[in-house]
Amino acid sequence: MTSPVKTVNPFNNEILREFDILTDEQIDQKIELADLAFQSWRKTPKAKRAQLLHAVAKILRSRKVELGKLATLEMGKLLKESIAEVLLCADIFDYYADNGERFLADHPLDTKMGSAFLSYEPIGVLLSIQPWNFPFYQITRSAAPNLMAGNTMLLKHASNVPQCAQIMEDIFEEAGAPAGVYQNLFIPGSSIDKLVADKRIKAVTLTGSEPAGASIASAAGKNVKKSTLELGGSDALIVLNDANIEQAAEAAVRGRIWNAGQVCVSPKRVIVEAGIADAFLEVVKAKFQALVVGDPLDEKTDLAPLSSEKAVQDVIRQVEKAVFGGARLVYGGHRIDRPGAFMEPTILTDIQPDNVVYQQEVFGPVFMLYKVKNEQEAITLANATEFGLGGSVFSTNEARAVNVARQIDTGMVYINHVTGIAPELPFGGTKHSGYGREQSPAGIYEFVNAKLIRVT
Ligand code: NDP
Repeated sequence: MTSPVKTVNPFNNEILREFDILTDEQIDQKIELADLAFQSWRKTPKAKRAQLLHAVAKILRSRKVELGKLATLEMGKLLKESIAEVLLCADIFDYYADNGERFLADHPLDTKMGSAFLSYEPIGVLLSIQPWNFPFYQITRSAAPNLMAGNTMLLKHASNVPQCAQIMEDIFEEAGAPAGVYQNLFIPGSSIDKLVADKRIKAVTLTGSEPAGASIASAAGKNVKKSTLELGGSDALIVLNDANIEQAAEAAVRGRIWNAGQVCVSPKRVIVEAGIADAFLEVVKAKFQALVVGDPLDEKTDLAPLSSEKAVQDVIRQVEKAVFGGARLVYGGHRIDRPGAFMEPTILTDIQPDNVVYQQEVFGPVFMLYKVKNEQEAITLANATEFGLGGSVFSTNEARAVNVARQIDTGMVYINHVTGIAPELPFGGTKHSGYGREQSPAGIYEFVNAKLIRVT
């Protein structure tokens, strides 16, 4: 019997490595160790915790190509994107190492009752459940702030990126992390509920699909534990009639083929004011035509395979259903005739609200393109989704773009740029895209006890 935890290279569907699933006894030992480690890690001076984070950042930078290749082999993204991801992780570790002590300093409160302050204290073992699309970054954004805050962490990574999961544990060890501060668990997603119920695990964070998020949130709720969820998105990229068409089209295309379209904040719905919609579409098509498809390890490649055979089949099926439901396929829509999980960049138009794809997240290089009469219609359409993660507005009039941004019901809106990622900027959504924030100062306060101490 093959293990569900394995590396299958999506460039050629070759099985590269398989890993054994942990037994119940091994899982119990790891939870016990994480809990034990917490008792001393919480008392470790913050400056010492910061040292560990800096050491991790240094290792990530020095091994960026090796680690980048591993991510590319496991889930198919372009090597240049994998290396950029590893460097971003190093920056996030440094960010919390440099600023964590300040963020966690006692916070004085104005009160008529003597003096009072908030003391930010760690809560214990955090279970972090992460997806494959950014195999290092997804780990980092929960690990860096939480280890800085004094929590310890158990990682349950997606089953298709086990080598990235294991190597992060090895890197923590090499950086000098005390045993149990950070551990990787090879377990299937279906076995998580039991862990969430374990008294030694104090909280849970998940990035992934809506069904997985709903399942975790209900398990956490049942056990009265805090959770944060970063789920999918169907971000709108609004192009107003005064936008620079070339700039908007370039950003939209690069944003949509990034990670072969498998990014929660990729601009999945492009909403263009009617006056410039046809011109915009022609520029996008020309840019799609010019893309180089091929080996993700090759510098020249623009469009990588999707993460797995199943992933490409799912997206093709979604496009077929959208067309069956009345959408017009104006570009692509099919598999690329070569080995591996490749799919043509695709544009769908004429998607009506009763089309099944209208409310879906498409996790592949597919634009849903909408033509609207005016700004108000663009805002209404941007908000006509259950998702509320990110979004962007393109316009040469900054005040107008900001005014539109204020009316978009999401956690993040970028002007003249697709939704991005930076250590110092918060990341997270509203509505069915989940709750809680990662990165920025906000990311370190999710799993701490902001304890009031009042002195008479
Ligand atoms: P999943 O949500 O299935 O997987 C994400 C993580 O959750 C994995 O570690 C997975 O483990 C685990 N998991 C799955 N089911 C459960 C469960 N019931 N309880 C606890 N943990 C669970 O995402 P997929 O990777 O299958 O992708 C499917 C869709 O999710 C995508 O098409 C996209 O819409 C969305 N997604 C969103 C991402 C984002 O960044 N917001 C990232 C990735 C996916 P295991 O791998 O072992 O199943």
